[in-house]
Amino acid sequence: MKYLPIFLDITKMPCLVVGGGSVAARKVEQLRKANAQVIVVAPELCHELSVLADRQLIEYKCSDFNEDNLRDKILVIAATDDTSVNKLISELANERNLPVNVVDNPELCSFIMPSIVDRDPVQIAISTGGASPVLARLLRARLESLIPASYGELAKLMQKFRTAVKAKYPDMQHRRRYWENILQGPIAEMIYVGQQKKALAALEKTLSDEADNINQTGEVYLVGAGPGDPDLLTFRALRLMQQAEVVLYDRLVAPVIVDLCRKDTDRIYVGKKRNQHALPQTEISQLLVELAKQGKRVLRLKGGDPFIFGRGGEEIELLAAENIPFQVIPGITAASGCASYAGIPLTHRDYAHTCVFVTGHLKDGGMDLNWETLIQPRQTIVVYMGLMGLEALCRELILRGLPKTMPIALIQRGTTSQQKVYIGDLASLPEMSKLHDITPPTMIIIGEVVKLHESLSWFEPGQ
Ligand code: SAH
Repeated sequence: MKYLPIFLDITKMPCLVVGGGSVAARKVEQLRKANAQVIVVAPELCHELSVLADRQLIEYKCSDFNEDNLRDKILVIAATDDTSVNKLISELANERNLPVNVVDNPELCSFIMPSIVDRDPVQIAISTGGASPVLARLLRARLESLIPASYGELAKLMQKFRTAVKAKYPDMQHRRRYWENILQGPIAEMIYVGQQKKALAALEKTLSDEADNINQTGEVYLVGAGPGDPDLLTFRALRLMQQAEVVLYDRLVAPVIVDLCRKDTDRIYVGKKRNQHALPQTEISQLLVELAKQGKRVLRLKGGDPFIFGRGGEEIELLAAENIPFQVIPGITAASGCASYAGIPLTHRDYAHTCVFVTGHLKDGGMDLNWETLIQPRQTIVVYMGLMGLEALCRELILRGLPKTMPIALIQRGTTSQQKVYIGDLASLPEMSKLHDITPPTMIIIGEVVKLHESLSWFEPGQ
């Protein structure tokens, strides 16, 4: 190990930065975050640094570097664009055993500045020993996506309760188990969604209760899995998928996405039973309640966004009534996923100022839609579940006044490697779609914006 990672308290300590450009500014920012007393030496300052100097948030010495600047400092950062000056600073600092960092020059450094994942008070410092700052940055991006933004809040809460928990659980193993349960359970989740007060009260309750009931509370995560491409999951969705003990998923959720759940997660398919009937909504809700009551962390994974034509609201009503903790995680809805991946902006200054989402379910051979609102000018219409009714839909729209030539797109399995896009107009698309063996899920987009597909199409799997 060439470098020893340490976390240094530099509060109010004099730290020298030589250089006044944007690179120096970045270093100054880091030092200031750690409450250092920052002294900058440079003949001139970039805008960012001069603002800090004007507000006396840094001490500025307007001159070239000289040896005297090193006196009484606890560390020095050389960020000038002159290699010989940087080298001189490094040599002089080394003579004085003063830790020195020379930007982008590991050989001249006696310490390096790591990439930081900051969840104050939690800090993760990443270093590649100067081998590849880019690699460190990529690694950092990965960690950023895995660690909830409010992790620091959680740490603060733990700190607050440390003594109380120690008193209740003098045995270290007990204590560890207690904290592990908290960190992976509903209280941590409350913090992540910003319910600090609720979390505080719940934590207090776990300590005041005679019975140790922390293991008995389950919870439900209603998660939108997006339209198909696993890369379109949210950070939170992925984290909860890795945390859940049981997952209920349906037809629309791609197997590659279900596979991102923890390996030992119980998987329950609720899309369609063997007799080809979907598990009734009431049974799904009941199952969610039962599993949560068993103390399980239950993931209800749904295609797209759970609150857009996903009956997500109905599924959680019972949970709310039974006082079972739950959270809802939005997903990228199919309209938005398909539109983006087909190169069809849903709104556009020249073509559409509004956009409506409807379902194209057939009822007694017709569609129960508010046609007046649909045929408004400069509007994009997005139709979910519209394949079966495509012919009726186009016919009706023409009857109600939309031109036969109005462009329409049919996007099959949008955002996946099997995506196919069919473009036509209201008069021709129903016939055209019959020629192809089109199966759901498909999304229909109607409006002038469809014209843009020709020039903006970018995602062409199989090409
Ligand atoms: N809650 C989901 C919608 C469920 S309704 C969401 O927000 O996306 C199911 C309909 O969504 C399907 O019939 C189809 O019209 C559309 N859909 C879902 N995924 C799709 C995909 N990958 N490609 C095209 N359409 C899709």
